[in-house]
Amino acid sequence: MSPTPLTLTRAAASVDREIQAIVAGSGTGATCTTDLAAGPWDFDARPGYGPGSSMGDVIPAGAPRQGVLPQEYRDATDAELSERITAAKQTLGERVVVLGHFYQRDEVVQHADYVGDSFQLANAAKAHTDAEAIVFCGVHFMAETADLLSGPDQAVILPNLAAGCSMADMASIDEVEECWEQLEDLYGDLDTPGADGLVPVVPVTYMNSSAAIKGFVGRHGGIVCTSSNARTVLEWAFERGRRVLFFPDQHLGRNTAKAMGVPLERMPLWNPRRELGGATEDELHDARVILWHGFCSVHRRFSVAQIDQARAEHPGVRVIVHPECPADVVDAADEAGSTDYIRKAIAAATEPTVFAIGTEVNLVRRLAAEYPQHTIFCLDPVICPCSTMYRIHPGYLAWVLESLVAGEIVNRIQVPADVADPARVSLERMLAAKPPAAPAAAWENAS
Ligand code: SF4
Repeated sequence: MSPTPLTLTRAAASVDREIQAIVAGSGTGATCTTDLAAGPWDFDARPGYGPGSSMGDVIPAGAPRQGVLPQEYRDATDAELSERITAAKQTLGERVVVLGHFYQRDEVVQHADYVGDSFQLANAAKAHTDAEAIVFCGVHFMAETADLLSGPDQAVILPNLAAGCSMADMASIDEVEECWEQLEDLYGDLDTPGADGLVPVVPVTYMNSSAAIKGFVGRHGGIVCTSSNARTVLEWAFERGRRVLFFPDQHLGRNTAKAMGVPLERMPLWNPRRELGGATEDELHDARVILWHGFCSVHRRFSVAQIDQARAEHPGVRVIVHPECPADVVDAADEAGSTDYIRKAIAAATEPTVFAIGTEVNLVRRLAAEYPQHTIFCLDPVICPCSTMYRIHPGYLAWVLESLVAGEIVNRIQVPADVADPARVSLERMLAAKPPAAPAAAWENAS
């Protein structure tokens, strides 16, 4: 996997400008909350993730909090910030590399040296061994992964520490360790294989999890997966265990295992707020995959009704959704796959095609601009970007870059060694896992 060159993203329509126009009354359409038009600094001090689709999620007590952004960055116009960012990057030259996630707003992405998904960008960080600083315009767990893979003398910087991921925070290390203890009481020793050569349960974590969770997985014989390789990773886990404990995203786990033939009744949900996760002992003994009660606030907005509407309005439309969407949405779509899969599917279409896409709106708008020969739209008619990613405003990017110019490193993300070492083990297992005989990075439905 390689990150996307910047030049492919420059013509994108700005989601932020559209939101500003809607809220000002000069634009059409709707946004999930008018709060999105405000500056992220208006929300950084509040006990929540701020505006957007994850506004209902409570920010955990241990999540990092952003300090006050200096006033000059809050008052500057987009044009002024863009000039300052460009000038700071020119001054820093090869000393800095700026990474932009696919879901990042265009006003930030236009300054990125690489654009990609979290793992592609972590690899880009790894490849730039000469850069003193890696500015990661994504969310917290992504910056942690970049820190795990980059050199010890390189500083990974997250421009706004309030840019967390509501899904990643749905599995805290305390909750996961408590779950593990309860499973140990139920199944016995979890780390020693039985007579069949299998351990009772193998922990598998989605890349969208904290470094602490990746470290836990590394210590307990488990592995990390991405949305591109989840099936390969589950195959790896089933070669070693009778069951899989999959966190934090129940939907990716369910969709992947279902496509592999695991019946839904053998995938109990684990709610960390309930004894035995809310499942019965029988359900847990019979389980093949125990699904953590987590989800992505952005992808759970997609619905079968939206797909039905797209099909009614655009006969012949090709519907592709991300596997973080609920199972009924994946079933109703034509295909499901990672952001990389979606990009490649659109790039490979040789005839003008209508695509309805079920993933974050910034990426969908960028793809629409990139492939004008196709009609590409987001399944969700309401503009609702990833609100945590949205906390990376150009003002924060200008601030961290100008701080670097002044010789100061702000907002450095550093994973402690006792967490980083086992976390790297779980990542290395993922890199070494071999795909099954028939490649299956995505699900292609019959419809
Ligand atoms: S889109 Fe969902 S999973 Fe991705 S960073 Fe945002 S909240 Fe987290």
